[in-house]
Amino acid sequence: MIDRHIFENKKAVYYTLGCKLNFAETSSICKYLSENGIRKALPGEKADICIVNTCSVTELADKKCRQAIRRIKKEHPDSFLIATGCYAQLKPEETSRIEGVDLVLGANQKMDILDFLDAKNETKIAVLPVKDIKSFIPSCSGGDRTRHFLKVQDGCDYFCSYCTIPFARGRSRNGSIAELVKMAEEAGKTGGKEIVLTGVNIGDFGKTTGETFIDLIKALDKVESVERFRISSIEPNLLTDEMLEFIAQSKRFTPHFHIPLQSGSDEVLKLMRRKYNTAFFSSKINKIRQLMPESFIGIDVIVGLRGETAEYFNETKLFLETLPFSQLHVFTYSEREGTAALKIEPVVSPAEKQERSRQLLELSANKLEYFYRSQIGFTRRVLFEHAKKGTKMYGFTENYIKVEANYNLNCINKLIDVTLLNFNEDKTALIF
Ligand code: SF4
Repeated sequence: MIDRHIFENKKAVYYTLGCKLNFAETSSICKYLSENGIRKALPGEKADICIVNTCSVTELADKKCRQAIRRIKKEHPDSFLIATGCYAQLKPEETSRIEGVDLVLGANQKMDILDFLDAKNETKIAVLPVKDIKSFIPSCSGGDRTRHFLKVQDGCDYFCSYCTIPFARGRSRNGSIAELVKMAEEAGKTGGKEIVLTGVNIGDFGKTTGETFIDLIKALDKVESVERFRISSIEPNLLTDEMLEFIAQSKRFTPHFHIPLQSGSDEVLKLMRRKYNTAFFSSKINKIRQLMPESFIGIDVIVGLRGETAEYFNETKLFLETLPFSQLHVFTYSEREGTAALKIEPVVSPAEKQERSRQLLELSANKLEYFYRSQIGFTRRVLFEHAKKGTKMYGFTENYIKVEANYNLNCINKLIDVTLLNFNEDKTALIF
């Protein structure tokens, strides 16, 4: 039995890299440690414990984790530094050799931190093989955030050829609808006006409870303490027409969709082992536009996958030029150890990757400006986020338009109806 008294008056700092899921999990770790006497260190205070929640989605992400760990240890030299998250799970030995790391915790052990803080426990690495990761750790970020991230699902069974996430987070699993509705109600009661549903492959929700994603969103749509919900990202083949029809008439789910396409070439989609083709994808986008014309549609695309010839890239560009979306999230393919894509030839040069990324970012900027311009004159509901007095304040409409206004304390964390009039000075938001 651990003597909890050793934690009293201990201070911890938290550093998160990567996705919304990681932020939700760090927030839950922080809440759990605070409940056990380890408070969050104040800015400028030297911490006793440092927790770094890592990401490993690309080679660059790994590098940023190593840099962050070294920097934090320099800032808190006497602290006990714990590295957890995807980089720690995928490369525990490598992580343990980074100067300053005292403990490496795997994806399944994130919430077992207290067990390892006991001085008698000299474990350096506690990482389960990914096949043994079974537990679902419920998490919801809160605190001073306007928008809360509610983790509803974890892991993935898809094994797309370029992706390491299934090797870092394990197989698809989820919390029960009952526990997630309870967590959403709690977040609403503590001032959370907006909740973003997050996970790895959230459309695959229900694998471990025999429930479905449509049942989850129907249940959440009844949570009165929350004003609105956003779906962070969902695979196109899991975004059913039934869901779209429900969202179109729902009280709380916003017309904001983030859908990974990854490539606009059917040949490249096959190389990626994705579960749809371009015809299916564009029919989904057109269905959204038909049901909710004002929707914000964000699309993920990867450029430079091995085997993506200039011809295939042009197919992607032509496909995107005709698609009625709002914005692209452009990622550059990164070689990941243990992934099937490493067997594909030929390799795309860094210069070519960069040029393809530049072309799609340009296309995205034009589409975004066109979408924003199409919203001028409409009245939308904005949730203004925390801001410093005397500065501009910002918020997002239900259809994810960024809105700028002069600071007004009475509007912070409030939903306000505004009629969108024009672009702001640097064309990064609309004003009213
Ligand atoms: S769906 Fe594919 S890209 Fe997304 S997490 Fe799963 S394996 Fe990775």
